Amino acid sequence: MEAFVPVCPPINPKKVHTIMTRFEIRLPGIMASLLPVFAIFFTLLGKPDAHAQSEFEGYFPENATFLEEITTPSEFFGFEVGERHVTHDEILFYLRHLAEQSDRVILEQYATTHEGRPLIMLTITSPENHLSLERIRQTHLLLSDPSQSDDLDLERMPAVVNLGYSVHGNEASGANAAVLMSYYLAARTGEDFESSLDEMIILLDPALNPDGVQRFAGWVNQHRSVNSSVNASEAREFNEVWPGGRTNHYWFDLNRDWMPVQQPSSRGRVRMFQRWLPNLLTDFHEMGTNSTYFFQPGVPERTHPLTPQRNQDLTMAIAEYHADALDAMGELYYSRETFDDFYYGKGSTYPDIFGSVGILFEQASSRGSAQESIHGILTFRETIENQVATSLSSLQAARELRTDLHDHMRTFYSDVMEASRSPVKAWVVGDASDPARLAHFTDILLHHDVDVFDLAQNLTIGQTSFERGQAVIIPAEQTRYLFLKSLFERRTEFADSVFYDVSSWTLTDAFHLPVAEVYASRFNDGLKGDAWSLDENFQIPEEGRLTGGRSQVAYLMEWSDYYAPRALYTLQQHGFRAKVATKSFTAATPVGVKTYPQGTVLIPAGDEMIDKDRLWSVIREVVREDGVNVMSLNRGLTVSGADLGSPSFVPVTMPKIAMIVGDGVRSYDAGEVWHLLDQRYHIPVTMIDKQDLSGANLQDYNVMVLADGRYSDLGSAMTEELKNWVADGGTLITLRGAVQWAASQNWVDLAYVKDSDGESDTHSPRRPYDQYSNDRARDFIGGSIFQGTLDLSHPIAYGYQNESIALFRNTSIFLQPTENPYATPLRYADEPLLGGYVSDENLEKLSGSASITIHRLGNGRILSYLDNPVFRAFWFGTNRLLMNGIFFGDTIRSGTAQ
Ligand SMILES: [Zn+2]
Repeated sequence: MEAFVPVCPPINPKKVHTIMTRFEIRLPGIMASLLPVFAIFFTLLGKPDAHAQSEFEGYFPENATFLEEITTPSEFFGFEVGERHVTHDEILFYLRHLAEQSDRVILEQYATTHEGRPLIMLTITSPENHLSLERIRQTHLLLSDPSQSDDLDLERMPAVVNLGYSVHGNEASGANAAVLMSYYLAARTGEDFESSLDEMIILLDPALNPDGVQRFAGWVNQHRSVNSSVNASEAREFNEVWPGGRTNHYWFDLNRDWMPVQQPSSRGRVRMFQRWLPNLLTDFHEMGTNSTYFFQPGVPERTHPLTPQRNQDLTMAIAEYHADALDAMGELYYSRETFDDFYYGKGSTYPDIFGSVGILFEQASSRGSAQESIHGILTFRETIENQVATSLSSLQAARELRTDLHDHMRTFYSDVMEASRSPVKAWVVGDASDPARLAHFTDILLHHDVDVFDLAQNLTIGQTSFERGQAVIIPAEQTRYLFLKSLFERRTEFADSVFYDVSSWTLTDAFHLPVAEVYASRFNDGLKGDAWSLDENFQIPEEGRLTGGRSQVAYLMEWSDYYAPRALYTLQQHGFRAKVATKSFTAATPVGVKTYPQGTVLIPAGDEMIDKDRLWSVIREVVREDGVNVMSLNRGLTVSGADLGSPSFVPVTMPKIAMIVGDGVRSYDAGEVWHLLDQRYHIPVTMIDKQDLSGANLQDYNVMVLADGRYSDLGSAMTEELKNWVADGGTLITLRGAVQWAASQNWVDLAYVKDSDGESDTHSPRRPYDQYSNDRARDFIGGSIFQGTLDLSHPIAYGYQNESIALFRNTSIFLQPTENPYATPLRYADEPLLGGYVSDENLEKLSGSASITIHRLGNGRILSYLDNPVFRAFWFGTNRLLMNGIFFGDTIRSGTAQ
């Protein structure tokens, strides 16, 4: 940390310096007319600082004046913003320094990244507002309470603006602009500017992805040359090595996590959002070097239908301010194309379902310090200039339109409450066999300030029964009604067939949780038990049940609990042996006769080699820490089905897992596997880079995961070695694209679903040229939800109790079920669409096709997963499919594999 000792000037409180810039952006009338007066006045007070003049040239409005007591970025860093890429450490240290210097700025840490970096938020407003900040916040929140919002004096309420930068760490102009904006807001002087601070509460989040910002800044800075290769896009400076700085530590795209909140940064950030409900939220990104500048609105037809039109009208009104600012700079830009406002998990769309307005900005990226583009040389400094300009235009818009923005929020919530008085009075969700999944589901809702209650009475709706205390009830009549609707609905009709991201995210499907709508005839307040409250550090499930005392024979562990794999691994790590039941059985237990399904784990306790005290203590530990239910048995003879010593209990080998990573492997998919094993299940996975694979001793592992990606570059020797490893008894798990690679090596025998009847394409009807992109997009499944059917007796399905399961799909690979009738344990239903967009042709191909197939290669197994069972860490319902492959893949009988 000592490396960043700042160069601080002595503080000289009364001096102000003037900044001359080479152009001006449009200023509010009064501010512009007063500027010359201020300039002369302040010039008399203090001598302009020549260094500072160039420091801000192009960044700030002409003649803007600043308090000299506030340290400029160059005084602090020893270089100007734009000269090289600031690291996250530098941002952090500078902003802490600013917060100490300025009575306009409060800094707080709202979360910590996986790599231990603080996520910080600056609250910037006038010193007077700071004195009553909590009262201002409480008043602002009344906008979301229709019973009180009519009495608010909107014109007197400050606008709340959340400026957020560089959620993608390698889109660096944002985080660098954030440094300048922080200085500007802390140091700018002038009557008009100061009164603007009275009219705004600015929440400035300088770097939404500190780990990625740090990774990228390190990359660019270490490859800088004095003589830069500006016109060589292939230069190392512009091309990070895998996995790059876009994502967070576990290679998650944080700009998809606003709804699922599975990463610590998003959890903290969403709490900050809900604490304030800002009127306007900005999200600064970069795009390809040859592009120009984009600001929302996006493609109008692709706005989520639950977002009110007024939100888009305001987005357009705000866009006029960005257009003015960029026109004044002579910058080209565009809007209403390419990007959309559909998925509520994105930073610029999330606010739209909470009465706020989210705005996406995309700046052409220079990647390094300068790079040639089709528009000439694009310097890093220019990219920052544009982000500063639209930051300022956003603030100007928020200030001038604040009454409209407040009115929008007030109307939004009064409309929501009106709509919430619908025939559906509540949703009930729950699965008595697995409280952990329900707790994680509820954790997501609580982060978004949804009101959730325990179900206080048993309730059966249709075919589904919910048990008191094992389910939650979520009343429809609440301010989060529209957001809830987006989580519960299964939408299959769309105005457009193109999606920037997923088209469906039905949360109960993702969690494999039964849900029912409660209509007025069944609803009463007596159904509501205790309210759930948010535990921001929620990680572990509640304690499981341990029935019976110490056993001399064996313990049985139910496999239906979400954290059962963690418990099993813990037991194995302590050296205890485990077996799994391949058939169901009925045993006499201390609490009566009980039937156990296949997948139940048996821990033998009787052998004299076993340290029974230690086993008892580990059993108690996993019940406590992992929430699993364990039964202690003292008799090996069962009531019916297999006895405990039966060969239908087969040994479970402790998994030693490797995953191939590196260039060509899709880092999101690999990162999701890494995150699941490391964070949730506490199971080590050795990630081996492709280029280091030849030096690895594969015999150290018994499970190998190939996530989606390209493997054709492994080389023939390495490919052969991998094949031999499988043939020697390894379990190879291939996901999505890796399935096709294994097929291309003839390791697995797969049959693709053919296109519908081969009509000749020589007479294809002509299509309009400008429809090409849309036509192509129709062929993709960008992220939709389909129904699969499981063979519940198969090891892949252990722990599931319902053969119907929702699957997330974002591939267009269609495979026929295997010829071996036992080798497709998971296939699609005949009418599989649950939610999201799919073309009729693709839907037909998908119907009845395979999702998971099992193959034999020598003594080993290859498991082909066509779909991603760990999507974005919130598809809790399908995680077990992967864990079953890891633990039980090698137990699958060879005759049942293709
Ligand atoms: Zn981005």
